[in-house]
Amino acid sequence: MFSTVIHTPSPASGVLSVTSLTRIAHELDSLLGSDGFPDYDQALNGVQVDTHNDIVKVAAAVDLRERTIKTAADQGANLLLVHHGLFWGGLQPLRGPHYRRIHALLASEMAVYSSHLPLDAHPEIGNNVLLARELGLTPTAGFARYETIDIGVRGESNVATAELFSSADIIARRWGGVARSSPSEPHRMTKRWAICTGAGASADTLREAVQHRVDTLIVGEGPHWTAVDADELGIVIIYAGHYATETFGVRALADHVGRTFDLPTIFIDVPTGL
Ligand SMILES: [Zn+2]
Repeated sequence: MFSTVIHTPSPASGVLSVTSLTRIAHELDSLLGSDGFPDYDQALNGVQVDTHNDIVKVAAAVDLRERTIKTAADQGANLLLVHHGLFWGGLQPLRGPHYRRIHALLASEMAVYSSHLPLDAHPEIGNNVLLARELGLTPTAGFARYETIDIGVRGESNVATAELFSSADIIARRWGGVARSSPSEPHRMTKRWAICTGAGASADTLREAVQHRVDTLIVGEGPHWTAVDADELGIVIIYAGHYATETFGVRALADHVGRTFDLPTIFIDVPTGL
């Protein structure tokens, strides 16, 4: 587990800034268009844990978990930006890990701001667009419709599928995972691709891939049967890791907060191996 500095305030600023959570949340809500954005109930986008203290340092992480909270507190942060928030496991009693997370948050006076689908879908700092750029791909359209919103991206390319897989594997390994792929011919070329980070391989995304004649689908993870169906549909799925494909958005979000409010920010890397 590591934490990486994302933004350090310029020494010239000198003035001790006072930044309330309300100001940061207002900025993030409007940047992400969180109001009315469709999402799963357990996402609970926005401020999940309040604080009346001024924010002095911001930590970002993919998952809200006890280790992340404790590392953030040890590093002097008092706001955590996460992609999978405190309520990701659904309605449950305050026992076990859920109790310990809440205890750690309250004991360290740590505020939490969570953003799920708004952060996947954002055109500048979203997981999907940033993963595409990291893979050298240029999105030209949306993909992976969820209710009224396209969460993912798609586009055209002329790149060897094996090369795309190698790039995905480098990203996966950087974040403690490994990329996998459904069967692919050695000299196969990727002409039309689509990306849906996280648990992106599903009946819906495969159907959409067929509809848009996508030949290569890049996701975080998916059930075993998606590789079977993809093979019979002539589609290759590259599974680059749920965790790895969702490290992009929270880091970019923290960078935005750091620059906007001149606050120090760090990324807390706690890989899940998936
Ligand atoms: Zn996810």
